Amino acid sequence: MQNELQQIPSLRIPRSPILTTNSFGTSHGRNVPSVIEIRNILPVTSGRVAIAMALKDAQIGKGHKVLIPAYHCTAMVEPVLWSSATPIFYRIKHDTSIDIEDAISKVDQDVRAIIIVHYFGFPQDVVTIRQMCDKCGITLIEDCCHSFFGGQAKTPIGWFADYAIASPWKFFPIFDGGYLLSSRHKLDHINLRTPSVYFQIKAFFNILERAVEYQGFGAITPLVGFPLKIKQFVWDTIKSLNVSSTESSMRKISADDGIEFDPRWIDIKMSIVSRIIMNMASLGKIIEQRCANYSALREILNDAPGATTILPNLADNIVPHVFPLLVDDADKVFRHLICLGVPIIRFGEFLWAGMDRNTCKVASRYSSHLLQFPCHQGLNSKDIVWLGQTIRKALQ
Ligand SMILES: *Cc1c(COP(=O)(O)O)cnc(C)c1O
Repeated sequence: MQNELQQIPSLRIPRSPILTTNSFGTSHGRNVPSVIEIRNILPVTSGRVAIAMALKDAQIGKGHKVLIPAYHCTAMVEPVLWSSATPIFYRIKHDTSIDIEDAISKVDQDVRAIIIVHYFGFPQDVVTIRQMCDKCGITLIEDCCHSFFGGQAKTPIGWFADYAIASPWKFFPIFDGGYLLSSRHKLDHINLRTPSVYFQIKAFFNILERAVEYQGFGAITPLVGFPLKIKQFVWDTIKSLNVSSTESSMRKISADDGIEFDPRWIDIKMSIVSRIIMNMASLGKIIEQRCANYSALREILNDAPGATTILPNLADNIVPHVFPLLVDDADKVFRHLICLGVPIIRFGEFLWAGMDRNTCKVASRYSSHLLQFPCHQGLNSKDIVWLGQTIRKALQ
C-alpha cells in the first residue's frame, strides 16, 4: 500500500494550502457558505453519532419510522436502528435528487422523520423537501456529510433542516469529528462530555504521527509545519473512505476508540486538537481547490469510453466532495485502478441488508457501478492530471 503513493506525482511536495489563516468562505470572489455557519452547533466525534443525537432530540423511537434514501451507507442506518425506529427506504433519481413522489407515498402516521443526503456535495431541492416535511409534519434531517460547503446565497446548506449533521473529518485532516447543527432548535440542553485524556492524546498523535511519518521533519517543528504538511494524512483519509477498507480500518479503530457507531460516543465532544484545526482551517482555499480539481477531472474524463459523468454541472454554490463516475465495467476498472494506487471511494457499495433490492433501480446500479474519485484540496493540478489520465487509460 505504501508504495502506491509513489505513483502520485509530486505528492511529496507540501504545497497544499489546507490550513493557513481563518478566512471563512470567500476566495476569488466566490462566497460559498458552510454548514458550520448554522447558529446552534455541537461538535461531536462523528457524523453517525450526530444522526443518533438528532433522532434522540426529536424523540424518535419505538413504533416510529424514518425515511432513508435507498442509496446510502450503513452508517446512516445504524443510528436509526439504535433509536428503535424502523428504516423505510425511498428512491432517488439518476441525478441523485430524491424522488419526492416516492418519499411522499411512503409517509404514513408512523413516519416521524426523513434523512436526505446531498450526494457528493450536490444540494437537494431543500425548499420543496421542507414544504413536504411541513405538510406531512415530519422532522427533516439533512445529512451534510458530503456537503460541508454549499447553500443558496448566504443561506448555508443544512439551514432548512430541523437537524443537520456533518462529518468534517471527510474534508479536513482530523482524526475524529462530527457536528450536530440546527437553525431551528436550540441545542444547549444537550450537555457534551469531554472525551478521555487517552482519546485526546490519541487524536493529537494520530495527526502528528502521520505528518511526521510522511514529511520526515523534526519532532520540534511539527506545530509550525504540520498544518501544511499533511498530504499523506489527507491521502490516507481519502483512501480510508473506500467503504471496504473503511469497514476494516474502522473496526480496528473502534476496538479501542469507538469511531464506528457506538452509542457510548453519543454526547461526547470532539477532541481538542480537531476543534483547533477546524478553527484554523482556511475554508476559502479549500473551496477553490476542490472546484478546480473537480472541473479538471470532468474535462479529462468527459466522453471517456465506458463511463458517464453523472453530475457534470458544478454550479456556483456547489463544493464537491468527490468526483462520481458511473462505470460500465466497474469491478474490473476498480481492481485495475487500485493496483495502480488510485484512491477510490465507493459510497453506497454496501446497502443495508434489510432493504429490498428492488426498492430502487438507481440505488442498485450506483451501489455496484458508481466509483468516486478524490478532488481533495490536498491534490494539485499535476496530481489531478495523473489521476484523470490513469482513469481514462483503465477505461480503455
Ligand atoms: C460518512 C457518512 C456518514 C457517517 O459519518 P461519520 O462521520 O463517518 O460517522 C453519514 N452519512 C453519509 C452520507 C456519509 O457519507
